[in-house]
Amino acid sequence: MPDVTAYGPGSAEPSFEAETLPLRAVSDDEIYRRFVDALLDHRLAPGTKLIEDQLAQAFGVSRTRIRPVLARLAGEQLVTLTPNRGARVARPDAAEAREVFEARRLIESRLLELFMEKSPTRCLADLTACIDAEEAARERGDRQSAIRLSGDFHLSIARATGHETLARILSALVSRTSLVLMAWGPPQHVPAAGCGCHAHRALLDAMRLGARAQALNLMREHLDEIEGSLHFCDVSEKPVRLRELFRPR
Ligand SMILES: [Zn+2]
Repeated sequence: MPDVTAYGPGSAEPSFEAETLPLRAVSDDEIYRRFVDALLDHRLAPGTKLIEDQLAQAFGVSRTRIRPVLARLAGEQLVTLTPNRGARVARPDAAEAREVFEARRLIESRLLELFMEKSPTRCLADLTACIDAEEAARERGDRQSAIRLSGDFHLSIARATGHETLARILSALVSRTSLVLMAWGPPQHVPAAGCGCHAHRALLDAMRLGARAQALNLMREHLDEIEGSLHFCDVSEKPVRLRELFRPR
């Protein structure tokens, strides 16, 4: 797998070449899941060109099998499809990034309420295990696992509520958050390498105590903090006046 995380202005355009898998029946769901995993692990950078032929070869399937997967990813705003220009990993702009966090604050507040109404002890234990595993991954320098486990914490809360619709929406938003952090996260993006175990532990403590208002505040603060770590380049914010820029001197 090539390192595609170095994509940026002036650098060579990355393209995604998935490792060639042994030929066997691979389901559309599995192809989709491997894409999403690569996004969540920060192995697949925003803007990466997705060449159908290469993907078809990598997965040992025909191009016609790749297209619906790309369409599904496009439906979740994880991929952009442009006529005659093909598919690319989406690169959320500043406004989209803010929308992602606004949507997460709304949805995760509700999911947290639903979770706490049920207060399933087993699920609290699962969340503890998730944080422990993330911490262990960080300690051994396994950044990819740490990123995945930090997202799992949020998705585990959603799954435990049994609210299929909100859980699905959140799943797509967590994947988009990964793209946002890759595009706009701080250079070393420690928050991008997960949310930080400390915030999750504080939240879990409040959940365990049944402190609903405190837990909701902590969730909102946690998402605010991640959003606050983003640095949007001036270039993307300021409209460039081309006529002024190229005015004869
Ligand atoms: Zn988090």
